[in-house]
Amino acid sequence: MIALDNHPSGRHFLQIPGPSPVPDRILRAISLPTIDHRGPEFGALGLKVLAGIRQVFQTRHPVVIYPASGTGAWEAALANVMSPGDAVLMYETGHFATLWQKMALRLGLEPEFLALPGVDDTGLPRSWRHGVQADLVEARLRQDTQKKIRAVCVVHNETSTGVTSDIAAVRRAIDAAGHPALLMVDSISGLASADYRHDEWGVDVTISGSQKGLMLPPGISFNALSPRALERSKSAKLPKAFWAWDEIVEMNQSGYWPYTPNTNLLYGLAESLDMLLGEGLPQVFARHQRWAAGVRAAVQAWGLPTQCADPAVHSPVLTGVITPEGVDADALRRLIHERFDLSLGTGLGKLKGRMFRMGHLGDSNDLTLVAMVAGVEMGLKLAGVKFAGGGVQAAMAYFASHAAPAALKKAA
Ligand code: PLP
Repeated sequence: MIALDNHPSGRHFLQIPGPSPVPDRILRAISLPTIDHRGPEFGALGLKVLAGIRQVFQTRHPVVIYPASGTGAWEAALANVMSPGDAVLMYETGHFATLWQKMALRLGLEPEFLALPGVDDTGLPRSWRHGVQADLVEARLRQDTQKKIRAVCVVHNETSTGVTSDIAAVRRAIDAAGHPALLMVDSISGLASADYRHDEWGVDVTISGSQKGLMLPPGISFNALSPRALERSKSAKLPKAFWAWDEIVEMNQSGYWPYTPNTNLLYGLAESLDMLLGEGLPQVFARHQRWAAGVRAAVQAWGLPTQCADPAVHSPVLTGVITPEGVDADALRRLIHERFDLSLGTGLGKLKGRMFRMGHLGDSNDLTLVAMVAGVEMGLKLAGVKFAGGGVQAAMAYFASHAAPAALKKAA
């Protein structure tokens, strides 16, 4: 109980890009007594969350819910549609794309890792500062005249960089090449914060998790399916048992699972769905875009580059900030944590020590984000970093002059 004994006063500022701060409403829902997962009340809960989560993925097809972290849902997605030795085209947008590619290797697949070549003037890989280049995907698929590539795998919101990718453009690229590969998308940190449309964008499997835009603690994750993915799963030969879609989808029809589901997190999911769908998905997406723009206004005032080098694809979920040459971003993060009880995301993989990540998702509001910006600005000063001040002022000016989406709705 060390953490409790030394608990500082006030709320901790959990500003990493997930797990995100959980709203009290959801924490209260999760605290209710656990019920019989084979009893009648459970079936009603199961049907409710299975219907609601489809709306969030914007799909009419089944969504499978696993009691696992996002990594489990990555494995589930590959295990259900692939056979040993299958070729997969994956795209390097950052650390999470890299981890998924490593998993494909470990599962005995043959992933090819496409990337924008080279580094830019920051010395960082270009591919980790831009989204998926759909033209590269199309060109590669056109070369595959024997149609050996079985799937294209991309990350929608690369949490290690703060860069999003245009998923509809990737689908258009696959279609333009006349290629039958499935489209598999990791939207673990995009779903329920950034616009996402499983059916409309022609995605075959979308993977997501509970601990980001859904505002739940870590512990459940998802595979949203397409009819083509379900069809492919009937002949796919990678071993699978716990992850197998067929039994789960079958039992889900009555609101139950073939194993013990994560009952209390499903209470939380039901509450989260009420909150998100009650607010309206367009409002949820606009809220995150506005938060991101306010935080970026601060970073711009500081004169520090964002990890995302393409203004068209800034993440609404997090902002990656590159620290000046010679400034250890992790030492800065440690200082900010010690002095202001504020947690920022670390630089992952190739970005270690070069950048930090500011999350703007979960149970948040304008003033929480102004406080985060203030904590970072004080930390930059204390660390002796050379930067222009004025970030807090810039964020306040942005939020004050841009009404929140809900207020705009009332005024209309
Ligand atoms: N993919 C992305 C984009 C992520 O952000 C994460 C976790 O942050 C993962 C995959 C891995 O998910 P988990 O840590 O829940 O296993």
